[in-house]
Amino acid sequence: MIGYELTEDQKMYQKTARDFARDVIRPAAVHHDETGEYPWEVLKQAWELGLMNTMVPAEYGGLGLGCLGACILSEEIAWGCTGIGTAMEANQLATSPVIMFGTDEQKKKYLGMLVEGLDDDDLPRMAAYAVTEPGAGSDVQGVKTTARKEGDNYVLNGQKMWITNGAKAAWYFVLAYTDKEAGYRGLSGFLVDADAEGIEVGGKEDNLGQRASDTRGITFDNVVVPAENVLGGKEGLGWMQAMGAFDKSRPIVASAAVGLARAAFEHARDYSLERTTFGRPIAKHQAVSFMIADMAMNIEAARQLVWKSAWLHDREERNTKEAAYAKAFAADMAAKVATDAVQVHGGYGYSKEYPVEKLYRDSKIFQIYEGTSQIQRLIISREIYSEVT
Ligand SMILES: Cc1cc2nc3c(=O)[nH]c(=O)nc-3n(C[C@H](O)[C@H](O)[C@H](O)COP(=O)(O)OP(=O)(O)OC[C@H]3O[C@@H](n4cnc5c(N)ncnc54)[C@H](O)[C@@H]3O)c2cc1C
Repeated sequence: MIGYELTEDQKMYQKTARDFARDVIRPAAVHHDETGEYPWEVLKQAWELGLMNTMVPAEYGGLGLGCLGACILSEEIAWGCTGIGTAMEANQLATSPVIMFGTDEQKKKYLGMLVEGLDDDDLPRMAAYAVTEPGAGSDVQGVKTTARKEGDNYVLNGQKMWITNGAKAAWYFVLAYTDKEAGYRGLSGFLVDADAEGIEVGGKEDNLGQRASDTRGITFDNVVVPAENVLGGKEGLGWMQAMGAFDKSRPIVASAAVGLARAAFEHARDYSLERTTFGRPIAKHQAVSFMIADMAMNIEAARQLVWKSAWLHDREERNTKEAAYAKAFAADMAAKVATDAVQVHGGYGYSKEYPVEKLYRDSKIFQIYEGTSQIQRLIISREIYSEVT
């Protein structure tokens, strides 16, 4: 059955997120973009409304929304501000390997703590996915972090880079080699408490866009992690866990790109009706109205790819190729739509006085994080050829 009608529940969550994005996120977005302050006050309200950690299964205290449900929310939140959205959604990325591959005990502890209540400072608990390193981003197998078994513990050493929520998280999913000789089969996933001794978090990166989000380097210097924190209870599963998590999280990130593009499109459409040149609204010049038409068409196409990939994931069907289609198409689309939205605004689009300037800066990262647009094409082409050879 193919249908385009959301369920009553999905419509309700969508409306809650849409109202929240309009009433809480949008009014806070400029402040957090300008100051780079972490949007705790927004996250707290989002947590109280049940808009965070939405994929944590009901048996562990969460809403148990599927990937499609999370995508529907992600688009709305991102429409409000993708910087704030990324701070929120980093939890979805970090929890994905735990939801998919964690033991019952690990899920109870690490998923449970995100949903069961606020922390001692009355703030929501955050989590981070710590895979990238200074020398290895796209080339994940090039990571150098190691975990050495010592008695009932592992000892972690290494350096991670560009970790969203690095300084805010209560725990990290960390990818490390337990057996360097075994290639990718020697990679293991660890759940690491952020307050463990030997962890040092670097300064906040001064990024181009999504400045409400907090990105840091993290150093692990002889950090002792109990053996029970090896994700899934076994060594050697880290590659599958880190990559498998992307099948769940890439549709959500792609959906955020759709949300940003929708915001840019709306600003451009409205401005094109207000601004006049040569005696008529610029919307009446075909070169402009066709840009608006292309925006709307590509936003819709991206949303269809996102929803299809999420729907497949919820049916427990392999969606690696479709998640990469969605991520690459939506990211490239959002970057183009945001660029064109600036173009429609002419000189005013280049000024911070108009919202499209921020959207233009915020859009670029979608082509980089969660696998660059080139890496998505690598995945897609591998999947295509593996189907016939
Ligand atoms: C703001 C921000 C937040 C982030 N958050 C996180 C996070 O929470 N957790 C985390 O683990 N990581 C995070 N990252 C890291 C992000 O996933 C990496 O930056 C990304 O995967 C690219 O890796 P790299 O920066 O090392 O670039 P490189 O891998 O060095 O790539 C450089 C360029 O070469 C291209 N390239 C590389 N290899 C190939 C190839 N085989 N074929 C074709 N082209 C290729 C890339 O597409 C890119 O254009 C974040 C990054 C940023 C900037």
